[in-house]
Amino acid sequence: MAPSGVLRQTGGRARCRVLIEGVVQGVGFRPFVYRLAEAHRLGGSVRNGQDGVLVDAEGDRDAIERFLDQLKSTAPSSARLRRITVTWGAPHHDPEPFRIDTSAGEGDPALFPAPDLAVCAECLAEMADSGDRRYAYPFLNCTQCGPRYTIIRALPYDRERTSMASFATCPACREEYEDPRDRRFHAEPTACPACGPRLALRDSGGRALGVADPLSGAATALRAGQIVAVKGLGGYHLACDATAPGVVSELRRRKARDAKPLAVMVGDLEAARRLCVVSDAEAVLLQSAARPIVLLERRSAASEAVADEVAPRLRHLGLMLPYTPLQHLLLQRVDRPLVMTSGNRSDEPIAYQDDDALVRLGGIADVFLAHDRPIEAHCDDSVARVIDGAPSVLRRARGYVPLAISLTHEAAEPILACGGELKNVFGLVRGREVFLSQHLGDLGDARAYRAWVDAVAHLKGLLELTPRVVAHDLHPGYRSTAYARMLDGVRHVPVQHHHAHIASCLADNGVDDRVIGVAWDGTGYGTDGHVWGGEFLVADLERFERVGCFQEVAMPGGEAAVREPWRMAAVFLHAAYGEAMEKLDVAFVRRLDPSAWRLLSRAAERGLNAPPTSSAGRLFDAVASLLGLRDRVDFEAQAAMELEALAVPDADRVYAVDLDEQDGRTIVRTPDVVRGVVEDLLAGVGADRIGSRFHATLAEIVVRTCRRLRDRSGLDRVALSGGVFQNVRLSRLAVEGLGRAGFQVYTHHQVPPNDGGLALGQAAIAARFREDRSRV
Ligand SMILES: [Zn+2]
Ligand SMILES: [Zn+2]
Repeated sequence: MAPSGVLRQTGGRARCRVLIEGVVQGVGFRPFVYRLAEAHRLGGSVRNGQDGVLVDAEGDRDAIERFLDQLKSTAPSSARLRRITVTWGAPHHDPEPFRIDTSAGEGDPALFPAPDLAVCAECLAEMADSGDRRYAYPFLNCTQCGPRYTIIRALPYDRERTSMASFATCPACREEYEDPRDRRFHAEPTACPACGPRLALRDSGGRALGVADPLSGAATALRAGQIVAVKGLGGYHLACDATAPGVVSELRRRKARDAKPLAVMVGDLEAARRLCVVSDAEAVLLQSAARPIVLLERRSAASEAVADEVAPRLRHLGLMLPYTPLQHLLLQRVDRPLVMTSGNRSDEPIAYQDDDALVRLGGIADVFLAHDRPIEAHCDDSVARVIDGAPSVLRRARGYVPLAISLTHEAAEPILACGGELKNVFGLVRGREVFLSQHLGDLGDARAYRAWVDAVAHLKGLLELTPRVVAHDLHPGYRSTAYARMLDGVRHVPVQHHHAHIASCLADNGVDDRVIGVAWDGTGYGTDGHVWGGEFLVADLERFERVGCFQEVAMPGGEAAVREPWRMAAVFLHAAYGEAMEKLDVAFVRRLDPSAWRLLSRAAERGLNAPPTSSAGRLFDAVASLLGLRDRVDFEAQAAMELEALAVPDADRVYAVDLDEQDGRTIVRTPDVVRGVVEDLLAGVGADRIGSRFHATLAEIVVRTCRRLRDRSGLDRVALSGGVFQNVRLSRLAVEGLGRAGFQVYTHHQVPPNDGGLALGQAAIAARFREDRSRV
């Protein structure tokens, strides 16, 4: 390395080697470097090296400086540059033109697989141009866009290791592929009508329907009110006309999906704005290369455009824009919003293999719009929303996976973090990078569990990684825990559920602090075997202490109490009023079946199948039932979501709630909350106002308890995690209140606060774990 003064003396010429680490494969990075080098009249080369992309650049020193600046500032939007290392050296003075070295070079580069990318504007323009050879071709792509993760069989990312291997490129495509000036230079999945995948239209029995244009056939079926299975990037969608209530109800019936909201795809941003209020930040998220489903507030005036059956009783609608060329063409032809929901029945994983899809979706879809490009990894659509101007991922899958999240510290050995049971995501750690899997659903479903085992093997294979450490939840009933315990020859790191939530929030924010952790959710296995879920911890990545929690109540029937919120309402009423509850003049008590209640209270008293719980989720359920929202739920958090949707914007007061101290722990007297709700009911206050006061009360409990814990611990940073903080109203009120009280607050952005974020927390804790350290 020579000091710059020496280089200046050699007539302003210089040479440098640049190492670029990060997601730089499958995103058009080398051609980008090539064009940039040409623009600055530099000689040298670019190639894949052991640790990333390597550039040798020689030329005028000022030109190299500008080249380096633009390398960072104008890199392809899908590239993720983690580190750029520049080493200056003496120039060679051989004026060779810049070239792309495509030889294997010095071994495999450090591989960061790229996520699937929405079709780009240039490809869309070609698709719309009747003079272009790819006019109306539904599988065009380039280095800036198209399938990646879902077609990759192995790395490095080359066509022969993707599901495009069986399609031989035609001479025209080959020419583009080999031309460094072409935007399809080394576009691995490139295709055209002459050489690429083709569409097919089939009936529900798999027989080919003799139509000239499968796309128009599918569009006609959709307009006629049929349900169409459409093969996408990461699996099949079930599509139907979102404006037709009868069809949407029929889809729900066939899918055995009673009430969960369904995602809707609209043709463009204007169409989205006709249905929902879309802020600038939400527009950016909708149009991002990841193209998640974005939760948006419905326009009240637009209630007729999309059938109520799409998202019953909810104020928000999950909208997404087309991200494959096929979806663009389909939306143009149908010209109305389409329900586009995962192709599965109930809680099963999304169908992605053609034969399997026919079997599993044959009884749901009337018609199949399929194609012959195989899908290697199944991947649902991601779900995100904007909270206070910042995007927040609620379900991390297509478009985000497998982008790594960096830890603050390096793991000594490769780690597998198994995640939880519901909304499972697992993670693999290499060095500082955590590669999280796509959302894999609820492992209680046997098919989902098998798909999970396959997904673990697939990602391990892709990253060529053999875990030496396995992190898992404490819950003995989780399938992911059982799997972890079966593994031999690895170090096991059991992680308490809520500790994992708080660690996840720390890792999500790239910090390594000791914090007050507020972990509120439905269910998490506690170190005492009880069902935790309304927890205050003092925690860092090494250990935690449970410094506060909700008062425990019985959860009669165990899981049945999750499905039937009326059970929790009765238990909380009893905790608040004792036997006098039976005389309360509220609708809930009037409709309570006395014999059912007697059975329940007896079981609760004796602790028979009635585990003690401090769950915040169950308190939401109880209040939703007291307000008459629902006594039974079809899916977890349904009652809480409806309670949030119902509440009026601003609370005029909060309920008085006692905070007690017991064995050095702050106990939140949650029956006080229920007493406040009941007094309002007796006074004739409306459910919408009570819902609002309830949310404000919970936010105030967060702030008051954290103040008390700050006085005791000196900690002034708070991490909010757990599924309850998906509740935007509660989250916002808590963040505002904590801010006013002088706290620094961490919330989630890259991974969800729900159990989909557990693996990241487990990974961060396991990366810190040392054998010799005793653990809480
Ligand atoms: Zn493109
Ligand atoms: Zn071709």
